[in-house]
Amino acid sequence: MVGGTMFRIRRVHDTVTERNARVVSRVQEMLPNRIRGIQSAFVAGIVDQLHNPVEHLFRTILFVAEDEKNNLSGFALLSHDSNLKFCLLDYLVASSLVPGRGVGGALYQRVREEATKLRAIGIFMECLPDDQAICADASLRDQNRKRLRFYERYGARPIDGTRYETPLGPDDDCPPLLVFDDLSREGENGAPGLKRNAARRIVRAILTRKYAELCPPQFVDMVVDSFGDDPVRIRPPRYHSGTVPAASGSEGAVQQIRREDRVALVVIDSHEIHHIRERGYVESPVRISAILRKIELSRAFLRVPIRHYSDEIIRRIHDPALLAILRESLKMAPDQDPVYPYVFPIHHADRPPADYTVRAGYYCIDTFTPLHPNVWPAARRAVDCALTAAGLVAHGESRLSYALVRPPGHHAERKVFGGFCYLNSSAAAAEYLSDGGHVAILDVDFHHGNGQQEIFYNRNDVLTVSIHGHPHFQYPYFAGFEDETGEGKGEGYNLNLPATKSLDGEGYRRVLKRALKRVYDFDPDFLVVALGLDTARGDPTGNFLLRADDFRENGVLVGALGIPTVVVQEGGYDTRVLGANARAFFDGLSGGFLARSRAR
Ligand SMILES: [Zn+2]
Repeated sequence: MVGGTMFRIRRVHDTVTERNARVVSRVQEMLPNRIRGIQSAFVAGIVDQLHNPVEHLFRTILFVAEDEKNNLSGFALLSHDSNLKFCLLDYLVASSLVPGRGVGGALYQRVREEATKLRAIGIFMECLPDDQAICADASLRDQNRKRLRFYERYGARPIDGTRYETPLGPDDDCPPLLVFDDLSREGENGAPGLKRNAARRIVRAILTRKYAELCPPQFVDMVVDSFGDDPVRIRPPRYHSGTVPAASGSEGAVQQIRREDRVALVVIDSHEIHHIRERGYVESPVRISAILRKIELSRAFLRVPIRHYSDEIIRRIHDPALLAILRESLKMAPDQDPVYPYVFPIHHADRPPADYTVRAGYYCIDTFTPLHPNVWPAARRAVDCALTAAGLVAHGESRLSYALVRPPGHHAERKVFGGFCYLNSSAAAAEYLSDGGHVAILDVDFHHGNGQQEIFYNRNDVLTVSIHGHPHFQYPYFAGFEDETGEGKGEGYNLNLPATKSLDGEGYRRVLKRALKRVYDFDPDFLVVALGLDTARGDPTGNFLLRADDFRENGVLVGALGIPTVVVQEGGYDTRVLGANARAFFDGLSGGFLARSRAR
């Protein structure tokens, strides 16, 4: 008994019995004409599909809900592709759609059980859109909302950022969204999400098999090619604020931390290859594991997979010549010693020397940042991590994210590398976010963030602020002075706060408050924190005196701005304290952010 009405759900395999034949013809009568005008052929073909799965490449599965008198009260028509391992929900028709209750809820639960049993990667379905931009009719939109709200309760949400919902012609005024239900695998640690290549194959299968007459091949190619994100991006929840259960093993009552209140953590996975084994090269792989060890057990973080991005953003912030010299290092022999630029023939930029080592000096600012074949893959992957973290915040999936990466990036300018940095990941995150609003970059590394300063020097939509040891005495020596304030449109949008002497926690906070005041006045939509931890007492590259408690307090102050924030790991080389200091900073950041958003 559900809601006072009894019904049973059963699977109909064929139309051999009279009872089955009758229920199938009722299904055919009830099928509303909704999806892209294909219904008459499709409806007529249902009987055939039930009997001849191979011919149709999909196996058709029909579930019916019948009342005590065997009247049809709802049905779900599901297709299964055992090659590509997915299910397509063609139709779910029921008098009411209430999650967990009624005919609709029971049918969809049955469909999910079946898909799980079939080991499908998930269920795909088309739903008409709830956005005014692609569905002008208000009452239709209202129905569409109810349907999307219903599926969202099960974790099924539209795929975002593709051209699936492209109208087929001038009459197609309400093109459907493609919705994906991952069968609740999302919460699993390190779940890969819906892979791009799998999604492309599946979408091609859906369009060519189901809509062969309607979709010309160019249309299918266009839609398939538009699946660029890997994993595919799923629209953030719109109707329910989801909760995620606490990690197992925690004592006491189960605490719920809302997904969007956790720090989305993106950890670089292929950085170990970039390992310079010379004595004294402090920018080493253990920096990542030292931090990860301290934060990975914290429930405040939610690990998310790295997405791959095209070079578009990188090309917007870096000169092709820099990318070329970095890529050229791929040609070096793997066993060759790292190449350290040692001459800087900068006076003849129009006459590049043939020798790679000498030419590298055109694009480098120091003698201690080497080139070797692993530089490009590692730095490129760090940018993917930073863009993943930025994407989560840009699309509202997270409000705080952390790209735990190396090599660092903030010394890399448009055309030069140096200071252990090759590609500017913080600048890449800011550039990406700047498509969606104003961005402030706050660089709290001990060293001046000359890279972002130079890249955004002429812009007023990206504010750059840096707190650092004075360039009179500290790397990079040529930039970071107070009178560098921006140029042209960017005049007034760069703020340098160099410290002439060593700062302790209290001294640092005084400077940080000035920096945050500037950020607050700028009123950005997004904040990027270039998080150097080399301001710690004892760091081999700096002379500030911060302790873990100071990092916590700094985090609170930054979080209290209440701005959606992407944190990108920069420097920090004392691996004995890196983890504790990172953990303290994020504890403060989350706490400050939450307190601020509750107060709002
Ligand atoms: Zn640094």
